Amino acid sequence: MKKGLIVSTFLIFLMGLSACGKTQVPPMPSIIDELKQAFPRHDNYYQIFVRSFADSDGDGIGDFNGITENLPYLVELGVEGLWLMPIHPSMSYHGYDVLDYYGVHEDFGTLEDFERLLEEADKVGIKIIIDYVLNHTGSQHPWFIQSRDNDPKYRSWYTWINSSDPRYSLTGSWGQNIWHGSGPYYAGYFSPSMPDLNFNNQDVREEILNIAKYWIDLGVHGFRLDAAAHIYGQGETVVGTPVLDSNLDYLMVFRDQLRQYYPDVYIVGEVWEDLSYYSMFYRSMDSAFNFALADMIMTSASGASYFNYTTRLASQYSSFTSNLLEPTEIMIDAPFLRNHDQDRPASTLNGDINKLRLAAEMLLVLPGNPFVYYGEELGMKGIKTEGTNGIWDETRRLPFVWGDDRQTNWCTQCVDYNATLPTLQDQVNDPNALYHVYKELLNLRKETPALKYGNFEPYVFDLNRIQGFFRTLEYQNYSQTVMVVHNFDSSAYVFTDFAFDDVLYYTKGIAQYDGTIAPLSTIIFEVHA
Ligand code: CA
Repeated sequence: MKKGLIVSTFLIFLMGLSACGKTQVPPMPSIIDELKQAFPRHDNYYQIFVRSFADSDGDGIGDFNGITENLPYLVELGVEGLWLMPIHPSMSYHGYDVLDYYGVHEDFGTLEDFERLLEEADKVGIKIIIDYVLNHTGSQHPWFIQSRDNDPKYRSWYTWINSSDPRYSLTGSWGQNIWHGSGPYYAGYFSPSMPDLNFNNQDVREEILNIAKYWIDLGVHGFRLDAAAHIYGQGETVVGTPVLDSNLDYLMVFRDQLRQYYPDVYIVGEVWEDLSYYSMFYRSMDSAFNFALADMIMTSASGASYFNYTTRLASQYSSFTSNLLEPTEIMIDAPFLRNHDQDRPASTLNGDINKLRLAAEMLLVLPGNPFVYYGEELGMKGIKTEGTNGIWDETRRLPFVWGDDRQTNWCTQCVDYNATLPTLQDQVNDPNALYHVYKELLNLRKETPALKYGNFEPYVFDLNRIQGFFRTLEYQNYSQTVMVVHNFDSSAYVFTDFAFDDVLYYTKGIAQYDGTIAPLSTIIFEVHA
């Protein structure tokens, strides 16, 4: 651990020197730093399932100290922000049934360990956002138990349902937003063990806000809102108010209150619905995960369909932007390939390195905050295991393949889909490994303002299999434009439209660029006026 931290500090020292140039001029804030201040919500994010990431104490379970000790790895990869999946005491391995919103799960360490992670991450310029499971609690949460037992304070913290209420379909099964079991009926969209909180109760709203402030006070930079479209579900709204409006109204209030408390807070929501639906959440959150784009990238990289990729993307962005309410708001997309609820890219693309590389290249050149799911940079596999040995989504959340004693082994029943995967160290040593694509492009984003903050303007080539776009940033006196071109086909393409020589990235290596783009490759040029 100590060795890694020393190396990291030394690297930062060197980076500081090179940023100042070779002459001994007084240090000036570089444009990179200036932009970081101006756009505090733009970062390269990395999604971590704490239980599976890195074990520091030999019990086989990932923990906070494991993340702290491996911050140098994340810095080197080019990560600027972490989304930690639920860290609180909970009823299950996944954590989405919280028992105490003010605590941390004992498997992951102590609150002091978590605070140290926040401090150390801050020192290396990595922000941390945490999963906020605010739609529902675990059914063993004291609030729910007291509510069930008719405690006067907590009774109305959940939605207890009159079985004759026509807003509910009383099928008795979860998924219908109700659950009754053997006791009284209550709303619970996902599971009987996850009763929905009642957001019509002002005490609930206030408590949810207080919890967020508590974590911000500790140093958390923002939240990933779980199930943001379900906070008001069927039957949970005031009669006559549409579910969508209730959710948007609440989230707007929540965001405004948090911004008053901490202006730079970043809120990204999970609204796993159609694009037209989650577009509307841009009026109430900074970002909504772009599920439609994830599917577009995966089908394009697989070769199945890349028709009009860039013009479809532009249409998505204008849809998000049109939903922003204030002219000062900046649209920040949240692109990703796959998350913890989906089969991993390496599984669906059968480990095809060319396709995985292209998918990574497509993700990491886009506007917004790209979210890389831990282990994606290694080409880790993982699919849902349909109840085999009682295992379901666990096998989408398998141990990060360190290949040494940092590796977790908490899931003894899990099929190990990564048994033959080259370890991190193997991939670091192999210049052709997928890891280097992620590392190169995440770092390029950090160093290239147009790539990180720039707008998006499609350039339509004469062949649909060549898809390109410009990214331009204009900020005060600074201006930069880059062009990105993907070749989705199995044959090379000779550029006739463009003859740029300032190549920032090429799949085959910058020195290999000769005016043509190889099959399944990506080029990034800097465009000079
Ligand atoms: Ca551990």
